[in-house]
Amino acid sequence: MTTPVELEFWFSDQDAADAIAEEVMAVFHQVDRNMSRYREDSELSILNLHAADKPVKVSPGLFQVLEKAEEVSELSGGAFDVSFGSVGYLYDYRAHQQPSEDDIRSRLGHIHYQDVILDKAEHTVFYRQKGLLIDLGGIAKGYAVDLGIERLVRAGVRHARLSAGGDLRLLGDKRGNPWIVGVRDPRSEDRSAVVLPLENVAISTSGDYERFFINDQGERVHHILSPGTGKSVRGVQSVTIIGDNALTTDGLSTAVFVLGPEKGLEMIERLPGIDAIIIDDKRVMHFSEGLAPPEK
Ligand code: ADP
Ligand code: MG
Repeated sequence: MTTPVELEFWFSDQDAADAIAEEVMAVFHQVDRNMSRYREDSELSILNLHAADKPVKVSPGLFQVLEKAEEVSELSGGAFDVSFGSVGYLYDYRAHQQPSEDDIRSRLGHIHYQDVILDKAEHTVFYRQKGLLIDLGGIAKGYAVDLGIERLVRAGVRHARLSAGGDLRLLGDKRGNPWIVGVRDPRSEDRSAVVLPLENVAISTSGDYERFFINDQGERVHHILSPGTGKSVRGVQSVTIIGDNALTTDGLSTAVFVLGPEKGLEMIERLPGIDAIIIDDKRVMHFSEGLAPPEK
C-alpha cells in the first residue's frame, strides 16, 4: 500500500506495545492484499475477473465493505459508486494519462452500482453486466482503520490515534486532553484550514490534491470521478466527514465530494451523528449544522 499509516498510542510495556503495533500494521497489509485493484491476485481482482460469469463467494471483510458501499450509493443517489472503476481504471495519474472522450463514452454504461448483486445469505457477489469493474479506493482504507482500532481495543489500548492517508480514527482522548486534528488547506501542504479538538471519532478527508495532474488544457485531472460523466468532479477542493467509524466517514467523504456543497450537506443533515466540512473551489468553507457556530 502506498498510503502512509501513522499510529500513536499509550501502553505500559514497550515489548508488548511493539507487538501490538506490528499487529496493526499487519491489518493494513491484509486489507491491501484483499482489496487492492493494483494486485492481480487480490480478492477484488478475482472478483472483477469472474463475477460477471457467476456469483463469487467473498470473505466477510470484503462483503462488509461492499455492503457499506451499496448503502452509501443509495444514500447519495449514486454519487458514490464503486463501479466507477469501469472508467476509473483508464486513468493513470502518475503517468498523466486520461481516457479519450470515446473511451469514456464506451464504458460509462458500466458504472451502475445496481448491477452489483450482493447475496447476504451466500456471501456472494454477482455483476449483472460484463465490463463492470469495482475499485474500492474510496472506502477500503476506512475499513482498515476500523480493523486496526479493533485490534488496539482488544489489546487493552485506550488512547490511540490511527491514520491511513486521509482516514483517521481516534480512540479515547489524548490522556486527559482532546486530540487536535487539522483539516489541511487543500492548496498548501503545511497549512491547516481548520483545527478541531476531537476524541473517540473517525474523521476522513477527500481532496482533489491527493492524486492528480494538470493536463495540456490546464485542467486538474484528479482521482474523484463523477459516475455521470466519468471525469474529475469540479466545484470542490476537499470534504471532511466526522462520524463514529471510518468505514462510514471514508465512503461519505467521497460521496459528498461528488455531490458538492449543497446536495452534500443536504444528505449529511439527514444522517444522525455525522458532520461535514466542505471547502469549495472558491475556497469557501461550508459546515454542517453540528459544527456551525450558532447564529446570533
Ligand atoms: P483518498 O484518501 O485516497 O483521498 P478518498 O476517500 O478521497 O481517498 O477517495 C478517493 C478514491 O475513491 C479514488 O482514488 C478512487 O479510488 C475512489 N473514487 C473516485 N470516485 C469515486 C466515486 N464516484 N465513487 C466511489 N469511489 C470513487
Ligand atoms: Mg473516501
